[in-house]
Amino acid sequence: EESRPTRPDEICEIHQPGWFVENYANKSANGFAVEAHLHHEVTKFQTLDVYQTKSYGKLMVLDGNMQLTDAHECGYHEMIVHIPLLVHPNPENVLIVGGGDGGVMTQVLRHKCVKHAVQCDIDERVTRVSQQFFPQLTAWVGKDPRAEAIFDDGIAYVRNHPNTFDVIIVDSTDPIGPATGLFNRNFYALVKNALRAGGMVTTQGESIWHSMGVAKAMLGELIGGGFAPSRVGYYLSQVCCYPGSVWGMGFALNSPPEGPLPCLDRPHPQADATGRTAEIEAGSRFYTRRMHAGCWSLPAFAEREMSGL
Ligand code: SAM
Repeated sequence: EESRPTRPDEICEIHQPGWFVENYANKSANGFAVEAHLHHEVTKFQTLDVYQTKSYGKLMVLDGNMQLTDAHECGYHEMIVHIPLLVHPNPENVLIVGGGDGGVMTQVLRHKCVKHAVQCDIDERVTRVSQQFFPQLTAWVGKDPRAEAIFDDGIAYVRNHPNTFDVIIVDSTDPIGPATGLFNRNFYALVKNALRAGGMVTTQGESIWHSMGVAKAMLGELIGGGFAPSRVGYYLSQVCCYPGSVWGMGFALNSPPEGPLPCLDRPHPQADATGRTAEIEAGSRFYTRRMHAGCWSLPAFAEREMSGL
């Protein structure tokens, strides 16, 4: 079925007037009713569009792929940030690779223990357009002295900062175009090298329903990059603007295989003792301690696929 050629008229059928519809690899479609096309440009790296949806606030689209809506961004940003930052006992230095819309940084800065956080996105236009249309995700730009926005290739930035970060969050687009190099073992080896001992990385981890191969390969590449298999995991969140709404995140811990494994299915006890977890939960729209405990539970087919890597 996958090799059946798709005719152009079949692709067009899903584009209805008044709708933004994402055609996901000619396999599925995800759409929102829209009221206005607020912005369109072709940056040096990608096409960048913003729509006003009828019911879910504004929608950002890169190269035809939905990145976030006002209504759904919490399921992605809160979970890719608060899981590692609450598993780590005391994250002070954080790097975001990609993340140009500012949503990941907004969540990182809610952790008072964070002293310095860098967002390194290859495309400055994503941040500038987000400042215009998603001010709640970019209020920190030029305002919070702990936060730094750099516009450069994340691969080079990671290479140049060995042994620096407690947490690295790879909030990238799908593995095409400039993000292709963010999903392979050469990059993950650099990430491991940029982490301090006991540090951890989370990655935009695709869909177990639509692209299991990509998700599984990503975990294999994390191991190929030097993370111990017992220190590599995968967890799930809910992001309605991504194909299928169920979205995965990769996780890897920079510690020797025989060292203590922080409990992943609940926040770090130290974070609990300092009240950090309760504070994050109280201010969140999505994250809860129950969500933290449950997110590591995968459907049987995914658990089977991902075990034994
Ligand atoms: N959460 C979104 C998702 O899962 O679809 C991703 C959002 S974020 C806007 C993705 C960012 O990754 C984009 O702004 C893009 O410019 C950036 N990016 C892609 N390749 C990159 C690279 N090599 N270095 C740094 N940033 C990169």
